[in-house]
Amino acid sequence: MSPSRRGMRRSHHAVAKEAHVECSNCGEVKRPHHVCPSCGHYDGREVVAAGDGSKSVVNI
Ligand SMILES: [Zn+2]
Repeated sequence: MSPSRRGMRRSHHAVAKEAHVECSNCGEVKRPHHVCPSCGHYDGREVVAAGDGSKSVVNI
């Protein structure tokens, strides 16, 4: 296994960059298509209690 082959294999090992957008309600950085962990808003309305980021998995 040459250094070249090793490098080619490891070319897929990089950690993917996480996507993020600003919340339209509070301006906090959040992941797209996820409930805002800061204010609990999604699509212009509050869907979970504010500040509770642990329950951000909500089917809209
Ligand atoms: Zn927000």
